[in-house]
Amino acid sequence: MHPRSPYVAYVDFRKLGQECPGFAPYVNANSNVDFRNPAAVRELAKSLLARDFGLTVELPEDRLCPMIPNRLDYILWIQDLIDSTSCDLTSESNPSSPVTGLDVGTGASCIYPLLGCTLRPSWRFIATDVDHDSLQSASCNITANAVLLGDRIQLHETGVEWPLFSLDTLGIENIDFTMCNPPFYTSTTALAESAAKKALPPSSACTGTPTEMVYTPTGEVGFAKRMLQESIVLGTRIRWYTTLFGKLSSVSTFVSELRTIPQLGESGNWAVTEMVQGTTRRWAVAWSFGDRKPLPGGRPAALKGCFPSVPSELEFGVDRSYEEVCGEVMVLLAGLELLQIKRDGGEFYGEAKGNVWSRAARRAMAKGSMDATGDEVNVRLGFLVTVKAEGRKASVRVRWKRGRDGVLFESFCGMVKRKLQLER
Ligand code: SAH
Repeated sequence: MHPRSPYVAYVDFRKLGQECPGFAPYVNANSNVDFRNPAAVRELAKSLLARDFGLTVELPEDRLCPMIPNRLDYILWIQDLIDSTSCDLTSESNPSSPVTGLDVGTGASCIYPLLGCTLRPSWRFIATDVDHDSLQSASCNITANAVLLGDRIQLHETGVEWPLFSLDTLGIENIDFTMCNPPFYTSTTALAESAAKKALPPSSACTGTPTEMVYTPTGEVGFAKRMLQESIVLGTRIRWYTTLFGKLSSVSTFVSELRTIPQLGESGNWAVTEMVQGTTRRWAVAWSFGDRKPLPGGRPAALKGCFPSVPSELEFGVDRSYEEVCGEVMVLLAGLELLQIKRDGGEFYGEAKGNVWSRAARRAMAKGSMDATGDEVNVRLGFLVTVKAEGRKASVRVRWKRGRDGVLFESFCGMVKRKLQLER
């Protein structure tokens, strides 16, 4: 579960029943809930949305009922993605800068736009679906929360054969991200089999209806490949393309496909994350054609080899004050042959044309024999070091901002951490 999720600790159903009386009848003597009962599952979702997000939501009986903790995890991961790869290279991203997302297949709940806009007042959403009835219900949910959300969610009815990313139809030039919880199954039989395994009635609130869950004949992989094809045409008009998967085998298939696209495979500008809630596992994949680096995300062992090999940031604590650490960072960076250094408070942006912290490079610099000339083309690494005060101590984050050489970035992180933690 995402560390920022309020559901990291288990949900106390009895307490929730006390706080949301509509839910109380579904809590049994063991303080548990019967997840095979669609009414209980719906009431749980409504109560969590009301209590934890101040949202008033109606969920029709004949449509998929969202599991709130897992929907939230996907939204929080996208927040990380957007925050850690802001367009502005030289400073940390600002969570209040405007962001527009597209939710493909928003469903009757409109869950992702509701959560996304509630958590971030500067976010807007375009939400599409092919299901007219679901959109009607989504529209009611938006209206019911108009005080909180204003006009930040725009609904759009599309057709089955229409583009999934309908920027041109909507007359929109650029957006920040797309997200999608696609129809997972390849056939109604596969859907029924999966429901049987979980001992759920087919087409219950928990499994969804065939229109929501089935994309014949290729299921989630086919849906994701359609998105990938469209993304190749749209390129950087969308900063991040993302989608969810319900099966691990689909992730591997999709990632292999992604690797064959030259602009993606070579740059490693994509990432996978695994989201675990109880016994349910979901995976999200993101990819981008922009000159930015991935990415937040765990590295589930089962997906070894599926990841860009290097994480895009390193965070650690230093046992000295903010002022002291800032001073040390400045001295450290000034002692390297960097192409540029820009400081703004506790944020230090730098660019290097190679490994200028190696022993040989430092020796050459001391002798004054290193070639310091450089230009834009030679930037092999752009990084941002951010120092923050944590009481009387400081935390340091090194973020990868430019370049494609993961080994170089890892080596830089290692050097900064070693120097700052060993200082004194
Ligand atoms: N986002 C919701 C619903 C997911 S179910 C949730 O997470 O709970 C998948 C949704 O995709 C359904 O609402 C279905 O109607 C929609 N859908 C299927 N094909 C689509 C298409 N071509 N374009 C847009 N939405 C589509």
